[in-house]
Amino acid sequence: MADFDFDIGILGGGSAGLTVAAGAAQFGARTLLIEKEKALGGDCLHYGCVPSKTLIRTAHVYHMMKNAERFGLPRAELKAVDYRDVAKRIQSVISAIQKHDSEERFCSLGAKVEFGDPVFSDEHSVLLNGKTFSAKNWVIATGSSPDIPPIEGIAGTPYITNKEIFSLESLPSSMIVIGAGPIAIEMAQAFCRLGAKVTVIQRSSQILSKEDKDMADMVMNVMASEGVLFHLNSAVLSVRELGGEREVMIKNLEGKTVGLRAEKILIALGRQPNLAGLGLEAISLQFDKKGLKLDNRLRTNHKHIFGAGDVTGEYLFTHAAGYEGGIVLSNAILHLPRKADYTNLPWCTYTDPELASIGMNEKRAKDAGINYTVWTEEFRANDRSLAEGEEVGKVKLLLDAKEKPIGIQIFGPQAGELLSEWVAVMNGGVKLSSLASAVHPYPTLGEINKRVVGNFFAGKIFSEKVKKALKFFFHLRGRACG
Ligand SMILES: Cc1cc2nc3c(=O)[nH]c(=O)nc-3n(C[C@H](O)[C@H](O)[C@H](O)COP(=O)(O)OP(=O)(O)OC[C@H]3O[C@@H](n4cnc5c(N)ncnc54)[C@H](O)[C@@H]3O)c2cc1C
Repeated sequence: MADFDFDIGILGGGSAGLTVAAGAAQFGARTLLIEKEKALGGDCLHYGCVPSKTLIRTAHVYHMMKNAERFGLPRAELKAVDYRDVAKRIQSVISAIQKHDSEERFCSLGAKVEFGDPVFSDEHSVLLNGKTFSAKNWVIATGSSPDIPPIEGIAGTPYITNKEIFSLESLPSSMIVIGAGPIAIEMAQAFCRLGAKVTVIQRSSQILSKEDKDMADMVMNVMASEGVLFHLNSAVLSVRELGGEREVMIKNLEGKTVGLRAEKILIALGRQPNLAGLGLEAISLQFDKKGLKLDNRLRTNHKHIFGAGDVTGEYLFTHAAGYEGGIVLSNAILHLPRKADYTNLPWCTYTDPELASIGMNEKRAKDAGINYTVWTEEFRANDRSLAEGEEVGKVKLLLDAKEKPIGIQIFGPQAGELLSEWVAVMNGGVKLSSLASAVHPYPTLGEINKRVVGNFFAGKIFSEKVKKALKFFFHLRGRACG
């Protein structure tokens, strides 16, 4: 048997790579982790989830302060936001989490960490900083970068992406956001709340295009009411630099060409996998624009080279990267064949209110040709929601022909947290009757999960048939009023 330096080598020290490295080392595998940047943690820690959620929280607090009167409090006289202070807070949260993702911690677990630009020299070896490292198994977990389309004028026009937005020197007075996916929409709301004039440009007829239109429109309406301007059905024609400002020319639905100006342009039009420069062509490893070509055990065409995280091109989330890291560990280290299954993969867009989802929405159910019914419950009927000053939002439950839940979307306060109950229901195959009969504390937002199921059962329980039977057996005498 060939003798390799390591049992497993991992390229990329982000969400997926760190999961594999920590697990493999703790299982006793001789583990090598190679990271290109100076620190571990990846996009999620440095340019993604952590800074964005920290910024969103700051923007939320400022928004609440501006709306103090809605809560019966005196109007607050607020100073303008100094973005350098916001960026400082973001950095302090990153630094706190960085300790958990440090080289020392991984070394203490037993994994060797190297920094630099690795290139495959053969199917089992990479060249790094003039040295060759061989491993029995490799994992490519190099993440993704913002996709910058070839818009006319883009080369000569300064723009920002998620890499720059969390460390700006000052709050832009105005910002044009090109794209309307989760990253674009979260940033649009946060910057609007902090005081920037924000305009969102979207090619299609709704924001958050993977979501059902009714849910996405509710998000858009909240943001529009806070001052975000939306241009839907609009194609970006060109961009140009105008000194202190930048201009974006768009063609709208009516075919009119309109020029929009702002201090900053944020490009958030999707992601491309970080696969260039790894020498994949030389070892004939298959990939395309979307990511690595993988089987359902996350193996490439070389069965000892795996892919996990954003490079899979599947679900670009940290929890998906962690899940895929676990699949790789099972297959590569434990030799327990395990397939990736995304049926119950949840996600959440951290607007305020949040939009969280698991399983099928109407769009996906229609595409899959599944017959379904929809059951809803509004947050304005939830006592806790009203006490919190949250009146917007709804839960939408999809049941299949056998009346089994196939998907839930929640748009409302703490939707991401409320979804956890459905994560348990969907993964545990819990019966709807169990959820309906379980006692939830009052007053909680979580009661809405029970109520939406109650709406489904109400028609069955309080039916004419049941009433007739009760009348027959127990002589109930019917309405006492009206
Ligand atoms: C603004 C923003 C907000 C987000 N918010 C959320 C959220 O709230 N929730 C959520 O679940 N997801 C969120 N995401 C997505 C999440 O960040 C990614 O899905 C996740 O980081 C993917 O993990 P990964 O391991 O594939 O990639 P990463 O975490 O990016 O790790 C890849 C690592 O590989 C390194 N690397 C790159 N090239 C090489 C190379 N050639 N050699 C060696 N190393 C290399 C990189 O430096 C990086 O450290 C957000 C993303 C963005 C941009």
